[in-house]
Amino acid sequence: MIKKRYILNFPPQSGDKPLSYQLVRDYDIRINILKAEVYPGKRGSLLLELQGKKENIEKGVKYLTEHQVICEPLDKRIHFQEEKCIDCGNCTAVCFAGALTMSKKNWKLEFDKSKCVVCELCIPACPLHLFEIDFR
Ligand code: SF4
Ligand code: SF4
Repeated sequence: MIKKRYILNFPPQSGDKPLSYQLVRDYDIRINILKAEVYPGKRGSLLLELQGKKENIEKGVKYLTEHQVICEPLDKRIHFQEEKCIDCGNCTAVCFAGALTMSKKNWKLEFDKSKCVVCELCIPACPLHLFEIDFR
């Protein structure tokens, strides 16, 4: 089993097709939607995490591509130097995904990597330059 993240851009006419249902049923892929911008009748985009067998994920992505969905693998992560953080909270103001929050218990920064959509907005927001892109 592996996990892979993809940004999917799909055309308006794909809105009425059960594409994600096919991925689950035909390729035994678990889908976690991390971010969605879908407007009826218009082009939409999704950030998905796919979990399954490597060969099934490859087949599933091929299936989507055959249905005019553009699939871009997201092979980068945000790396954060936690030990140097002064908990100023600047980065939480730009993190719309809710990955960076201040703990209400001790006002320390908390980073929930599972919510990060790698928008990179925290990189310029941190005065100590504690965020960087980690390409894998
Ligand atoms: S990259 Fe974006 S989503 Fe991830 S922690 Fe930074 S601001 Fe939040
Ligand atoms: S902006 Fe930098 S120093 Fe401030 S809370 Fe975020 S990571 Fe820590």
